Amino acid sequence: QVFVVGSVVVACSVKVTRLPLAGESLSGSAFLAEPGGKGFNLALALSRLGIGVDGIFSVGEDMFSSLISSTFAQVGYTSEMLVHREGSTGAGVAFVDPAGENCLAVCLGANNALTAADVRAFAPRLHRSDLVAATFESPDAPIEAAFALARAREIKTLLNPSPYRPIAPSILAQTSILVVNAVEANALGLGAASQSDGALQATPAIERLLGGGLELLIVTLGSRGAVAFRKQARPFHQSAFEVAAVDTVGAGDAFSAGLIAGLLADKPLEDALQGAAACGALTTLHFGAFGSFPSARTLAAFVER
Ligand code: ADP
Repeated sequence: QVFVVGSVVVACSVKVTRLPLAGESLSGSAFLAEPGGKGFNLALALSRLGIGVDGIFSVGEDMFSSLISSTFAQVGYTSEMLVHREGSTGAGVAFVDPAGENCLAVCLGANNALTAADVRAFAPRLHRSDLVAATFESPDAPIEAAFALARAREIKTLLNPSPYRPIAPSILAQTSILVVNAVEANALGLGAASQSDGALQATPAIERLLGGGLELLIVTLGSRGAVAFRKQARPFHQSAFEVAAVDTVGAGDAFSAGLIAGLLADKPLEDALQGAAACGALTTLHFGAFGSFPSARTLAAFVER
């Protein structure tokens, strides 16, 4: 089972023929409003792969909180996974063009009101998990509290520091697995980590990260795949699967879910990474994220094809 320190937002997207300019009104060809957010997407992608999920998610007191509550019921999550805060539920708006390019803005709302005390109240449930995962759509305090609770029981932790902000040393020190995309890798000063070809070598910045408590660093590179760095092991490049991508929203969350599923099944890292890449690729085949995450069976069939 995985415990997710969650973020949850209502993600609205409008399909447009091109991204709008400042001051411009465009007609869109399709509109979609669905529950999303990196934490929720990760939870959902794990559930679709058959992994048990628990976690803590914060919603506000507007109409979107009822949408989230009914979605939780629909996907089989207990309402105990939701805490209620004053103000607005997290929400975002995106424009997506025919090439799948998008621009978006997210207001995290109630997600920002999640506290360390909220998380500590979930300690007995968190301690029943094999791994605790978080993204940077949650504030530092609850992530730090959850990771400290996890590491005190030697439960592994996974951090996806997206959207990027500097990683607090107290969080980094409690992180077992760090998954970043190319933008985040650059922001963290990891340098040549984003070179997927030629002789792969960990940079001094990566060596420093791995010299601490971190066991595994993964840099995802979109259609160029992903690179894994471990202590005292050669970096490993996993190619992306070639697919006709429609919309890459959720690919990073799906990748993390595929990775976690592989690692919890005690697969070798190479196999877990292949599953992660396949899970990411399959998610790009559909508009939006909610309906895009593959089942374990679809994933296995895709990898073996
Ligand atoms: P994020 O969505 O967090 O920015 P990436 O874009 O790096 O993350 O995507 C995460 C993973 O999903 C990649 O490492 C890759 O395996 C898969 N992926 C993403 N985009 C594509 C694509 N266009 N084709 C195939 N696989 C993709």
